[in-house]
Amino acid sequence: MLPRVPRPSFMQRKFLPSSLFIRAHPRVISLNSRYPVKGLRFVSSSTSSNSRSSFSARTTTFFALGSALIGGLLGFSFAYGPQSSVSSPPTSLSTKTVTKPRYGSAEDFQKAIEELKRTFPDEDTVSTNPEDVYNHGFSVNDYHPGISHSVVVYPSSTEDVVKIVKIATKYRMPITAYAGATSLEGQFRGYSTGGICIDMSQMNRILEINEADSDLVCQPGVGWVEINDTLREKGIPLFFPIDPAPSATLGGMISNGCSGTNAVRYGTSKGEWFLNVTVVLPSGEVIKTRRRSRKSSAGFDTTKLFIGAEGTLGIITEVTIRLTPVLPTTVAVVHFPDVRKATEAVRDVMNTGVGIQCVELLDDVFMHAINNFGQSGRTWPIKDTLFFKLQGHNHASLLESAKVVKEAVKKHGGFDFQLARNEKEADDLWHDRKNAHYSGLALVPGSRPIATDVCVPVSRLPDLVYETKQDLSTLGLVAPIVGHVGDGNFHAQIMFTNEAELATAKVVVERMVHRAIAMDGTCTGEHGVGLGKKQYLVEELGAGTVELMKTVKRALDPLGLFNPGKLYPDDFDDDKNKTQ
Ligand SMILES: Cc1cc2nc3c(=O)[nH]c(=O)nc-3n(C[C@H](O)[C@H](O)[C@H](O)COP(=O)(O)OP(=O)(O)OC[C@H]3O[C@@H](n4cnc5c(N)ncnc54)[C@H](O)[C@@H]3O)c2cc1C
Repeated sequence: MLPRVPRPSFMQRKFLPSSLFIRAHPRVISLNSRYPVKGLRFVSSSTSSNSRSSFSARTTTFFALGSALIGGLLGFSFAYGPQSSVSSPPTSLSTKTVTKPRYGSAEDFQKAIEELKRTFPDEDTVSTNPEDVYNHGFSVNDYHPGISHSVVVYPSSTEDVVKIVKIATKYRMPITAYAGATSLEGQFRGYSTGGICIDMSQMNRILEINEADSDLVCQPGVGWVEINDTLREKGIPLFFPIDPAPSATLGGMISNGCSGTNAVRYGTSKGEWFLNVTVVLPSGEVIKTRRRSRKSSAGFDTTKLFIGAEGTLGIITEVTIRLTPVLPTTVAVVHFPDVRKATEAVRDVMNTGVGIQCVELLDDVFMHAINNFGQSGRTWPIKDTLFFKLQGHNHASLLESAKVVKEAVKKHGGFDFQLARNEKEADDLWHDRKNAHYSGLALVPGSRPIATDVCVPVSRLPDLVYETKQDLSTLGLVAPIVGHVGDGNFHAQIMFTNEAELATAKVVVERMVHRAIAMDGTCTGEHGVGLGKKQYLVEELGAGTVELMKTVKRALDPLGLFNPGKLYPDDFDDDKNKTQ
């Protein structure tokens, strides 16, 4: 086994904000002795302390899920009060009464911290440094106030995570996982009672690359960018297409149910990109949701239970992902007289069926922001603009696709269609799109963003974007718009510098969300729920569906310890944990 990436020293952690540190700290990829492994075989328990045999995993999965559900329901009775007898007829989910989970006292939490320190005597594994615990509960990328954790623990293996979960359970201490720290809805904030933050950055190894099967096994702290860099460096012509923020890692990506610019061609993390996950459940049991075969119709999809669960049902400690062939791409850019015409053009382009890997809208304000940011090699016209990444098997097919797209956008007033002349130009053009978030932030020095995230059926997008832009300009907010418009998803990045602007921005967000839901859409296309969107869940999904989610949560986590306050709208939050 190759050496581990050195953990940030105490001093580094003390003086660098964690979100910056995660970006600055090179995640050196190490492959353990299992690489390269081709063909079908068991993942041997003898070769990795983090993996158990597939057979043992399967058996454990069966018993663990069974006992978690039974134990969970028993625990649910214990923790939340008496339930109806087994002979009673089934009751509607939404009529069940539940009581507030009970957490440990400050003294209990102190004992938990002492036990963590005894369990992990290495001084860098358990930190109560005030800056460390605060930085893990705060983010510059969103608008939610920071809430410190009580302690941050850096596990190195599944076994370490089990030990942490057992201590959390013993002292009834909330527990929140922390990955790339790029969430935009406060998903890794601390809880008002205090709690344990599990920083997964030391679990950052690629364990197997199965080129013949187009899949890869890794720990959850590995980033999607590092996976793709590693594949490229090794000359393996495959890649992982889910592409949120560059510093995002697989554990956080699964947990937020993310996607990105490639979703229009490859779908989202709710597709079949995650073949299986190994998870430490709130009971402390370890399960592996499935084997590595591409297909399985053995029961319902327990992997998906953890996609979008935001760390509320278990801590993911190993992941198998699918990979896909790298195909030639190029980039085209075209401007429009207004945002409605640009979004209408997308609808037609998508229906031509040509190879579109990405289609991104940047509105006139964002084009100005890119010029203002100063990192682009060109000065863009301040016009609503579409960026296309075209995909094909060879140069000729790329040119053919470009021709079809050019004709389609022209019908909607598209002008100045530019096709990259070479790979370097394509990279430069795409880089301007990828810099959007930080160009937007630079537009208003000292501002923080609300990154909205509504998504609607594609045909409704022109109305939604148009009406939102009207709202923003009437209220005088600076809010560049960027959209994964091929999927009907867009973000108005609303900038605020004070409480009054924040309050106005929240009004716009609320109106956007209600409008999107009325169009049969969603309050979050890809960023997840966290603290910021939970108030809309019942309106969007219905009380019965939300209650089903809560029932699963209570079954797996009867003590309510895993990332409390996030995802589920409930009546127990005190003010600090309420939707911000
Ligand atoms: C500049 C920028 C651009 C972005 N672009 C996109 C985009 O295009 N598409 C998109 O979908 N999102 C985007 N995002 C949002 C963000 O990148 C995604 O939500 C991403 O999935 C978060 O991953 P992370 O590793 O940073 O997770 P974190 O933010 O660290 O954590 C996310 C959640 O997962 C939980 N968690 C973390 N690890 C585990 C684990 N091992 N087990 C269980 N739970 C765990 C955490 O508790 C938290 O609830 C962007 C964000 C930024 C800042």
